[in-house]
Parts: sequence; C-alpha cells; structure tokens
Amino acid sequence: MKAEKVKGQKRLKRLNSTSVTLWKWFTLFAVIMVALMTLICSLLLSISFSNQSKNRVETIGKELTISMNAPHTSQGEIETRVLSYVQSEVDVFIVGKDGTLLFPQNVRVSDYWEDIVGEATGKVENGDWKQGSYASYTASAEGSRATAYVACVLYGGQACYLLVWYPLTTMAGVVSQMQVYMLIVAAVAILISFFVSYSIAESFARPLRDMSQTAKRLAGGDYSVQFVSAENAEIAGLSDTLNYMKDEMKKSDEFQKELLANVSHDLRTPLTMIKAYASMIQEISGDDPEKRNKHLQVIIDETDRLTGLVNDILSSSKISSGLEQLNKKVFNITEFLYSVINKFGYLQETQGYNFMIDIDPNLYTVADEEKIGQVFYNLISNAVNYTGEDKTIFVSLKYIPETNRIKFAVRDTGKGIAQDELKHIWDRYYRSKDTHSRPVKGTGLGLNIVKVILLAHSFDFGVTSEEGKGSTFYVDFPEVSSKPEETPEK
Ligand code: ADP
Repeated sequence: MKAEKVKGQKRLKRLNSTSVTLWKWFTLFAVIMVALMTLICSLLLSISFSNQSKNRVETIGKELTISMNAPHTSQGEIETRVLSYVQSEVDVFIVGKDGTLLFPQNVRVSDYWEDIVGEATGKVENGDWKQGSYASYTASAEGSRATAYVACVLYGGQACYLLVWYPLTTMAGVVSQMQVYMLIVAAVAILISFFVSYSIAESFARPLRDMSQTAKRLAGGDYSVQFVSAENAEIAGLSDTLNYMKDEMKKSDEFQKELLANVSHDLRTPLTMIKAYASMIQEISGDDPEKRNKHLQVIIDETDRLTGLVNDILSSSKISSGLEQLNKKVFNITEFLYSVINKFGYLQETQGYNFMIDIDPNLYTVADEEKIGQVFYNLISNAVNYTGEDKTIFVSLKYIPETNRIKFAVRDTGKGIAQDELKHIWDRYYRSKDTHSRPVKGTGLGLNIVKVILLAHSFDFGVTSEEGKGSTFYVDFPEVSSKPEETPEK
C-alpha cells in the first residue's frame, strides 16, 4: 500500500517535472499553430479557386457576348465557338426568352438555370437590362455548387440569353484533395514537433536534474562534486554560482575544522600548563614563596592567554553578527596609542623586543575608542608575532596636512606576506601556511576583527608587504582639530 503511494507520488512528480510540462506546452502550441495554418490555407485555397472560376466564367461570357452582339457574326461561327468552350469543362447554353434551350440541343441543363433565366427576363422587362447586360452568380443545385454568368445576346436575329455555367464540383474535388495533403503534412509536422519539443524540453530539464543530484551529493558533504555548465546562459550562470557557493562552503568547512583543531590545541596547552604548575605548587613549591610566586605567575599568564583566545573568538562572532553598535566619540588618539603600546612593555623588558616609535603629539580623532583599541592591539600583536630575528617593531602615528588625516602604521621586519596571500589574510579563520621565524599560535581571527571594525567606521586601511623585508599595516583616521566637549556621537 505504502509502496503504491510512493510509486504514485513519483509518477505525479514526473508528470509535474519541467521537461514534461515544457513538452506538453510545446506540443500543444505546435498542434494549435499547425491546425490554424491548415485551416487558413484551406480557406484561402477555396476562396482563390472560387475567384478563379468566377473570372473564367466572366471572361468566356464577355467574349461570347461581344462576338454574338457584333453585327457580322454568323450563327455558324457562334455555334462553333460555343462548342469549343463546352469541351473545356464549361457549359455554355443559348436559351430563348421563354426558357427553351436553343443551342446546343439534347443536353441536360442544370435545373437551376430556369431561376437564373427567369430573374434575367424580369430585369429585361423592367428595362433594367439591355442587350449586353450581364450578371454573375454562385448557385447551388443538386447538392453541388456552380458559378454562372448570364447575359442578353442576339442569336439568329432574336434576343435571347447566353448562360455560361461552371460546376464547382471539379474544383471542390481538387480542394478536398489538397486538404487531405495538408492534413498529412500537418500530422507529420505535429509528429516532428512532438519529438523536437521533447528534445528541447529535455535540454532545459537535464542540467537542472543533474544540478539537483549534484546538490544532494554536496549536502551529504561531498565537496569534490562539480556543477556542470549548460549552453543556456541562465543555467550556466546558476551552475557557476553553485560552484562558487560550493567552493566557499568547502573553504568555510576547512577553516572551521582548522580553527577547531587550532583552538582545541591552544586551549589544551595552557590548561596542561595550569594543571602542571598547580600540582607543582601543591606538591613541591607550596612552602617556598619565591618558587611558588614564579609558578603562580605562569598560571596567571596562561590564564590570560586563555582569556585572550576566548575573547578573540567571542568578539569576532559578535562583531560579525552585528550585535555591537559603534559608540563614536572624539578622543586623543596619541595618548590612546601610547597606552596600548605600554601593554607590550613587558615584551621589551623580558624578551628583548624593540619598539621604534614615531608619534605626533595631541592628535584627536572621532571613532569608537574601545574598538580602535582592539585594532591597534591586534595589528601590534601581529607585528610582534611575525617580526624578524631583530625583534623590532615600528609604530607611527602621523598627521598628513595634505589630506587632513591621521595615518597610523605598524611595520615589522619579518618574512612578509606573499602577494597571493595578501587578499586572504583579512578573511575569517585565515592563517598563512608559511612557517614564520617563531611558532605563532593564532586563531586567524585578529585581522578579520580589524577589518570588520574599520569597515564599520568606513576608514581606509590596508597592508603593503615585501617578501623577506616585512609588512606594514596602516589605518587612515579622520582628524578632529581640537577636543570638543565630551558628547558621545553616534
Ligand atoms: P593569526 O591569529 O593567525 O595571527 P590574523 O588574522 O591576525 O590571525 O592573521 C592572519 C594571517 O595573516 C596570519 O596567519 C599571518 O599569516 C598573516 N599575517 C598577519 N600579520 C602579519 C604580519 N605582520 N607579517 C606577516 N604575516 C602576517
């Protein structure tokens, strides 16, 4: 029962598929067009045949009328002419005013001619018709149609009627035969259109079907799939977009996996250290204040690293999801930068780092101070992490009078960044594969946080790098000439 239901649903799906729908409509369209054309053709055919027969009857009628009414035409000549027409499917009769057939005799005239002759006689009596007057008719008699021509003529010296009669039965036969041919052609055209429309519909539907299959495999986590392009521009565009989406999904998946590996590694190392040093305090150094303090300091440092790591991850996701609003205000960027650099003072004292500073005094800007602090901190941290063996970092903050802007720059002397990597370093979770002079434990989030913050402020920023010589990261701040009252500006 269930299997039958599934089968029924499948059949319904197939019937509603793009190819069947397109096929149905194409075929219907072709049938309507062919039927319409056949109808119009057969109508035009009958009209043109009917006009032709009318013209023929009229031409013969007028010719005979002229020669019969001419004074020197003999009766014998008239009769020879009449008989010559009779041989070419046209009936010609000369009828007296009383309705008797004068020439040719002993032939059967259509029953209808009496009515026509009667009508003509009436007209002559009324004075409407003179010698030479004529009229054309399309008459139906004995179930067949005919075109007739009647005129007042002279025959054997007396006034009588000339009747030219062209039966349309012959023409009807030709027309219906033509119609049969047209119907055969129409049937063949419909048959061809049936197959052509199937192949057209399939050419549209096949790539869509393939794409749906590929998308299913992609959803199952198979990133090796490739959406195949098609001739149709829209479908080709769709497949390009889907391929792009797949590449992005793959990258994001790889980044997430890498991040998870990094973060779990980075979390495990300090946790192991914290546990080891705590055990040491408990078992060995608990009573020795000097050793204990040293071990406690390691625990504090490792805890700070953990906090920094967690903060990075949190602020990256918070900023990216737009949870935080900018709280812009005017502040002294010179003093603020000094305060950030001071946080790195312990590196100078304990690990021999050199900070070469070139900072203009008392510069003011308008921005979200806390977030700009994060930008400074991340850029200087990177310079510390990636600078060369000389452990030197150059930090500058200069007022540029030409542009009326403040330029912050931080330069290191490290290996630099490869050209093809430059555009990726701002991406979330991106970490260079290159090994730097010191093992650096990062998350690949720092520069992404910088980018999101600076884009939100619409500040110009960037990096220039020379491989083997180092990199310079810069940010362009607006200058506010003097410090106004502290009114937060949003
Ligand atoms: P990470 O936590 O890995 O430092 P970032 O987002 O701060 O993450 O930086 C992303 C990548 O950019 C780094 O992995 C590194 O390869 C490269 N990078 C950033 N700053 C520098 C720099 N000053 N010198 C060389 N490479 C850098």
